[in-house]
Amino acid sequence: CGIVGIIGKDNSRDVLLNGLKKLEYRGYDSAGIYVNDQNGHDSLVKTQGRIADLEAKLTPAVQGEMGIGHTRWATHGEPSDINAHPHVSADGRFYLVHNGVINNYAQLRDQYLQGVQLVSQTDTEVVVQLIAYFAKTDQLSGREAFRKTLTLLDGSYAFLLVDRTEPDKLFVAKNKSPLLVGVGDGFNVVCSDAMAMLDQTKDFIELHDGEMVTITQDKINIETIAGKAVQRAPYHVDMSV
Ligand code: GLU
Repeated sequence: CGIVGIIGKDNSRDVLLNGLKKLEYRGYDSAGIYVNDQNGHDSLVKTQGRIADLEAKLTPAVQGEMGIGHTRWATHGEPSDINAHPHVSADGRFYLVHNGVINNYAQLRDQYLQGVQLVSQTDTEVVVQLIAYFAKTDQLSGREAFRKTLTLLDGSYAFLLVDRTEPDKLFVAKNKSPLLVGVGDGFNVVCSDAMAMLDQTKDFIELHDGEMVTITQDKINIETIAGKAVQRAPYHVDMSV
């Protein structure tokens, strides 16, 4: 029941793990991270159980300059290693974490993904497979495939997406589930609750339903799903950790 992300720090893995620990109080049944060193090396590690179980599965090679992390409160599919997030598209290109529920995932699966072998029982996997499907079939960039997918969804979501072909970016969207962007100096973070990232920054940008964001280590580009640019200043959290 929590999401964290970071881009632009070489200790990304530790920032993600610390962030997830701060969100443990919300309750969860599984946890996972994906990290990418922006140089061709990446790792996906996920598990049913506690953050401690996740840490036990991490090798020293699991390091990156950017990454995403998740704690899951299962709604579709039992708690298991396979149903834990991040979920990955069949072509290995897209990695997605999700808090929320997609109501029409079964219709979308049946309409578009007949040719795709799903590996989990989650609503979330349908979303990441759709993004890959539209990127391929409609020859769209990762961001445009994400946008097209978002227009089809009915439900609640906070999404954090990585396109392995563009590891200098994080893609974010939200509808009826909380998500914030934290502004750093030379890096940026994403979290479902400021608590998770207060040791990294005190400056956060709130996102509204129907917005999507493209984040690099030094830029935060907010727009509506319809493509209208949004300007929003960060607010300062006046609180010590
Ligand atoms: N509906 C998704 C699942 O069951 C996300 C649950 C959550 O918010 O953690 O995997």
